[in-house]
Amino acid sequence: ATPTAIMVGTGVGAEHGVLIKGGQALERIRELTTVVLDKTGTVTRGKPEVTDVVPAPGLDGGADPGLELLRLAALAELRSEHPLGAAIVARAQEAGLALAEPVERFEARPGQGVVAVVAGRTVAVGTRRLMEALGVPVEPLAAEAERLEAAGKTVVYVAVDGRLAGVLALADTVKPGSAEAVAALKRLGLQVVLLTGDNWRTAWAIARQVGIERVEAEVLPDQKARVVQDLQAAGEVVAMVGDGINDAPALAQADLGIAIGTGSDIAIEAGEIVLVGGDLRGVVTALALSRRTLRTIQ
Ligand code: ADP
Ligand code: MG
Repeated sequence: ATPTAIMVGTGVGAEHGVLIKGGQALERIRELTTVVLDKTGTVTRGKPEVTDVVPAPGLDGGADPGLELLRLAALAELRSEHPLGAAIVARAQEAGLALAEPVERFEARPGQGVVAVVAGRTVAVGTRRLMEALGVPVEPLAAEAERLEAAGKTVVYVAVDGRLAGVLALADTVKPGSAEAVAALKRLGLQVVLLTGDNWRTAWAIARQVGIERVEAEVLPDQKARVVQDLQAAGEVVAMVGDGINDAPALAQADLGIAIGTGSDIAIEAGEIVLVGGDLRGVVTALALSRRTLRTIQ
């Protein structure tokens, strides 16, 4: 492509909220066979809210075990930088909880949750896998958790001193343009894959809402780039769309990295294309633009 044509192409892109860093990216879009979409913050808004608070049978929480469960989870999450942690703290504050107890230790486990010591008690909040790693039996609430996950909610388990204290469910809504973007990508003959650290049941529920037929779930942050690499090894030319700090290696591994403009600086840095307003339909715009620009010059 000639420099002029590329400038025209990228200029039109910018008008539609699609920032294309250089002509190479514009040319590479045409070769794509697969688009991998990160779930949280890319397909969904990335602003989860607590919807369900389910204390375990026998949790000693005085008059209101639900409030006690929320209080302990929020204290453990106080220093978390994860959107799920922020949502749990916000819910506790809305409920009027003081969260004044001392947090003596805090450890974030990327892709799994947090472990903290709150007033001498060890509180863990996170995935079923985290509970299993800590030797906490989840059976008393497993069926309830599965029911919530089937509705597309993210369930986090809470354990206090090695015993299950309850589960919290968080819902994150699908962005308005996501289903339309997926449909358009499929019409263009592209395979669309949903990638997430969240559990399989929740991931499939979200995938169904937007028409995605292939899911890679329960992928730890450092394994996301590996999923892209495996697709490439199978002959796919891959675009990765993501927003999080954890998505940067996968964006770099992909043949084309597409960052959500409202995401982390590290992801935006790693992306060759940036969807400024966060609308997934920008991927389709970029594809159309690439075809049009290159046709103009040929
Ligand atoms: P995603 O791929 O959606 O960005 P992450 O890799 O950040 O998700 O996290 C994967 C899963 O780990 C979450 O769905 C959640 O169950 C758990 N998790 C991660 N961080 C936290 C946290 N601070 N508190 C509770 N659970 C967490
Ligand atoms: Mg994410």
